[in-house]
Amino acid sequence: MNVLVINCGSSSLKYQLIDSESEAVLAKGLCERIGIDGRLVYQKTGLDKEITEAAMPTHKQAIQMVLDALVNPKTGAIASLSEIDAVGHRVVHGGEKFAASTLLTPEVLKTIEECNDLAPLHNPANLIGIDACKELMPNVPMVGVFDTAFHQTMPKKAYLYGLPHEYYEKYKVRRYGFHGTSHSFVSKRTAEFLGMDLKNSKIIVAHLGNGASISAVLNGECVDTSMGLTPLEGLVMGTRSGDIDPAIMEFIAKKENLDIEGIMNVLNKKSGVQGMSGLSSDFRDLQAGHEAGNELATNAIEVFSYRVAKYIGSYVAAMNGVDAIAFTAGIGENVNLVREKVMSYLGYLGVTVNQAVNDATHGDEAIISTADSKVKVCVIPTNEELAIARETVALVK
Ligand code: AMP
Repeated sequence: MNVLVINCGSSSLKYQLIDSESEAVLAKGLCERIGIDGRLVYQKTGLDKEITEAAMPTHKQAIQMVLDALVNPKTGAIASLSEIDAVGHRVVHGGEKFAASTLLTPEVLKTIEECNDLAPLHNPANLIGIDACKELMPNVPMVGVFDTAFHQTMPKKAYLYGLPHEYYEKYKVRRYGFHGTSHSFVSKRTAEFLGMDLKNSKIIVAHLGNGASISAVLNGECVDTSMGLTPLEGLVMGTRSGDIDPAIMEFIAKKENLDIEGIMNVLNKKSGVQGMSGLSSDFRDLQAGHEAGNELATNAIEVFSYRVAKYIGSYVAAMNGVDAIAFTAGIGENVNLVREKVMSYLGYLGVTVNQAVNDATHGDEAIISTADSKVKVCVIPTNEELAIARETVALVK
């Protein structure tokens, strides 16, 4: 079965065509600057990347260009559109309505729309992508896979905030968590990789990318996660602050004469390791800065790593122990310095580091703790597209 995986943003769209039997990527790419001018990146596996500058005023036109590229007689991955058996869509926010992936029926689309309030930048864009695909492929089954779904197993004590209860009742203000597809995929794969029984395990997943979050997975179910109502809470991220004293908002607003939008812009786009270092949100630049003696770059790496270690500690408490810790996403998979710094705080758990393996691991699965380490620590590359394809096949078959 061939599954087209679509991750649609407001002006961009990422796609992959995956053969679900072999789990091979047949082609992938992205559309950028939709509604502005337009750029299609397309790559059939094994061939060079093709870049086409072409007007794509709407998402429908962007998806039409993707479909045309997929069936192009010279470089296409399939001979005709009838070879696309299903489409899996990433949907950011499913609120409390979706605890699992679901077939996208008209009723389901209406319910997703009701969650727009909770993710005003993401959900409407996801829905536009779904509508465009439905118009272009009316007979192909479509599935929605939610970033929030995996975290719906959290107990009340983990998802309620210390706020007046009426805000939860009236507006559903609570912790939802994000990156759920990745936390689910990586926790399952960690158990498999380490030969553990997922149903009898305590796993902490540290998804450290430009957006970063961490979760506690007990017996295969999420019991806590660091992102909240929105992805702003929790770890220090590329440009997001993560946890801060909420009173800082009023303090800075007055000093800098900013309104609430201005403050949210600072916290979402100008903070994190980017804001701390004044250098970059990219850990390659931060590492280079650190090595060149840039104190602010060093601070950013230290604060980032310390925050991860503190969350790990709190999730060990939440689960009354931990069997395995998995690092994933761009930083977790590639930056051995961050992993080393995080693990340096975990001696009390009986974690001992295999320095040589940690230093040599960049983007591959590996166990980076020693054979006698009480808690296994590993690197597990995430693959959200494959996870979406698997969920899609499970519902369509
Ligand atoms: P993600 O959001 O998972 O794509 O992660 C993106 C972040 O991962 C980038 O901003 C970089 O900080 C980091 N990253 C990705 N690849 C590398 C690499 N090879 N070396 C260092 N950092 C990397």
